[in-house]
Amino acid sequence: MIERTLVLLKPDAVKRCLIGTIITRFENAGLKIVGMKMIWADNERALKHYTEDITIRRGQFVRDKLLKFLVEGPVVAICLEGIDSVEVVRKIVGSTEPKTAPPGTIRGDFAHMSYTYADNNNRAIPNLIHASGNREEAISELGLWFSDKELHSYNTVHDSQVI
Ligand code: GDP
Ligand code: MG
Repeated sequence: MIERTLVLLKPDAVKRCLIGTIITRFENAGLKIVGMKMIWADNERALKHYTEDITIRRGQFVRDKLLKFLVEGPVVAICLEGIDSVEVVRKIVGSTEPKTAPPGTIRGDFAHMSYTYADNNNRAIPNLIHASGNREEAISELGLWFSDKELHSYNTVHDSQVI
């Protein structure tokens, strides 16, 4: 099923000048960029993005650190479209902890930090990317970061040659 998902290049990715390198990975896989912009999120947007769900899953400590991390600099918000894109994007991004994220994934190739190191240093683990976790999350997160007018429908070569 063709669907859309949200990717954020977090402040660490932007500050490390990895925007182009990371976007290339998604484009190489044939995912279509249907929306993209740089935003310096404020606290209100951060609270709406990292909702209570994070507290339930990861605890208050992690949510507090994440809320601080997300507003530390601009992020690049990207809406990607493709077949089962939520799942495919998370495969390309890799698992949450860079230390254990497999090589070949973005988190595994461009970072190596562990949960323990980040916790001991009182920070959210800087793992370069946010990617929606499931279809419902993708729909609500896209609504938070993009208006309908900012998302575009067009054909890429993949639409005519591959899919
Ligand atoms: P994701 O979907 O893979 O990004 O993971 P989650 O949605 O569960 O967590 C959101 C973000 O919180 C992660 O991307 C990390 O930046 C951060 N994070 C998650 N778990 C931990 C943790 O145990 N310690 C620290 N310091 N940060 C964490
Ligand atoms: Mg998540």
